[in-house]
Amino acid sequence: MIVALSFVPIDNLYAAIQQLGDDLPECLQPFLDWFEDNCVGRVNRNGRGRRTALFPPHIWNLHQRVLNGQDRTNNHAEAANRRLNVEMEVQNPSLWSFIDCLRKVQAGRDVFYNQLEAEWRSLRNNKLREIKSSTLPWLPDTSLPRRHQIVLNRLRIGHTLYTHEHLMSKKEQPICTSCNTVTTVKHLLTECLLTKDARDKLMLPNNLCEILAPNTERTSSLLELLKETNLLQKI
Ligand SMILES: [Zn+2]
Repeated sequence: MIVALSFVPIDNLYAAIQQLGDDLPECLQPFLDWFEDNCVGRVNRNGRGRRTALFPPHIWNLHQRVLNGQDRTNNHAEAANRRLNVEMEVQNPSLWSFIDCLRKVQAGRDVFYNQLEAEWRSLRNNKLREIKSSTLPWLPDTSLPRRHQIVLNRLRIGHTLYTHEHLMSKKEQPICTSCNTVTTVKHLLTECLLTKDARDKLMLPNNLCEILAPNTERTSSLLELLKETNLLQKI
């Protein structure tokens, strides 16, 4: 029944867990508690909101994907499942050999992840590396309207309508008339004289890493900057 929670709308998860808690036998209550703590987030002591879960619902909940007719799995999940099957070697393992197998697979993934992390940290002169020093995911800020999430993502990858439209329209690369330099996201957000007053007023730092990292307050200043400088619609 706990598995079925992946098909419950995220807004109704709390009620569904409450219902499950009432119906599950006593021996399964610790498992439901574990699930709530790690996959939904425990309710704060003051009753307002939940703590952030290690694996928040937007990672595993499939309700919207089913409605959209999207796949319920992806290549990564299938590869992980295949790896586990290969590693297991037997059809019906005992609980202990299953746990041993999980540990072995996890150790292998940890080594792989550390290699990726080391490779990422060693990158120089890479636009993405400049704004993100670790390979850990940045979770989307779902409180933002979708258009603003798109704007933020375009700025992070450095590709916007304003800076890259010339590729589609086969025109010259845009040059900032005020600073006489190529217009890039980095230029607009950290160097440009045209945006300087607004950047100073909003107290935005002058490095992309801090401006574009997940930070609700800073993201709101960034969006304000784009509005004040009439850039928001051009991103
Ligand atoms: Zn400029």
